[in-house]
Amino acid sequence: MAEATRFEIHLPALRHNFQQIKKRLQAHTKVLAVVKAFAYGSDATAIGRCLEKEGADYLGVAYVNEGVSLRKAGVKIPILVLHPQMHQLSTLIEHQLEPCVYSWRILHALEKVLVEQQSTAYPIHLKFNTGLHRLGFSIDEGASLKQHLASSPFHLQGVLSHLAATEDPAEREFTLKQLAHFDLLKPIFGSDPIYHVLNTSGVFQYPEAHHDMIRCGIGLYGYGNQKEVSELLRPVGVLKTIISQIHDVKTGDAVGYNRGFVAHKPTQSATLPIGHADGIGRLYGKGKGAVMIHGQKAPILGNVCMDMIMVDVTSIDCKEGDEVIVFGGDDACAEIVAEHADTISYELLTAISQRVPRVIIS
Ligand SMILES: *Cc1c(COP(=O)(O)O)cnc(C)c1O
Repeated sequence: MAEATRFEIHLPALRHNFQQIKKRLQAHTKVLAVVKAFAYGSDATAIGRCLEKEGADYLGVAYVNEGVSLRKAGVKIPILVLHPQMHQLSTLIEHQLEPCVYSWRILHALEKVLVEQQSTAYPIHLKFNTGLHRLGFSIDEGASLKQHLASSPFHLQGVLSHLAATEDPAEREFTLKQLAHFDLLKPIFGSDPIYHVLNTSGVFQYPEAHHDMIRCGIGLYGYGNQKEVSELLRPVGVLKTIISQIHDVKTGDAVGYNRGFVAHKPTQSATLPIGHADGIGRLYGKGKGAVMIHGQKAPILGNVCMDMIMVDVTSIDCKEGDEVIVFGGDDACAEIVAEHADTISYELLTAISQRVPRVIIS
């Protein structure tokens, strides 16, 4: 008997998405598969291993401990740590993780650890701020960085930046400006390092800027931030549950905490064993979110509870024990479900809590 609430991770869909992305690249362009945050809420080990086999060149994580888990799971390909922290630098080296070096502070600290260990030619990626103002050196610092690297324990493996708005056509001009700033780096550092700047939306919208590697996250999981892109991809994660109980709610009666829904006509409500502790936040309550039952939409009634939601099944032919798709099926992708609650697929996916068992479908 399958678990009632479960997050199915479909590896065939992942392989499909990887190939869809790969197909758009020139032969020499490498793929860094971003598997941070448990591979966008799915399962970093399963996803990382699968993509290593499928031909990913790099994996990318946000923090050192995420990279350590992948190494412990036997991943051999290079792993880039996007946001290494000061206190994790010796662990980073111990597990042969490649850091994004984004400030003099982190550069000097890493240098100190490497010198102490008498390590040389340690691969690093220099990260530049081209307009996101999140992490990175300014382009102006390029020349002094180049000079500093000349006699240092570092090998400059990569040069990167991150774009602010690749998915937004209205910000095209801004994005082109960011890309033009990035182009100033090649004359400084030469053609040896791996230059990488694009995320998923960038891959599809700015093919002229693929450079030596692209960093793809959300696209691998089936979402492209734009309808035309998402249509080429398949959702990897499908969140399923079942109907625990069905109630007939009389006119004037209420459903859930604080009487969040009051029936204005006779209503059938189905209780599902999934709530905000599982990652379905309260922002999906009161009809902003809906689930799919036998291909029909059942809006959430009233407030989301910690362990349960109630949904409207008045016009759906269903019974207790029937299967429910929370998102990820053909007609209820995470992108659309999230949009109805004014959020994005990234947030919905990464919120699925560890209480929900992941079921890998290979
Ligand atoms: C998360 C992240 C990505 C992946 O972005 P997607 O939109 O999911 O493809 C790429 N680069 C950096 C620096 C990131 O933090």
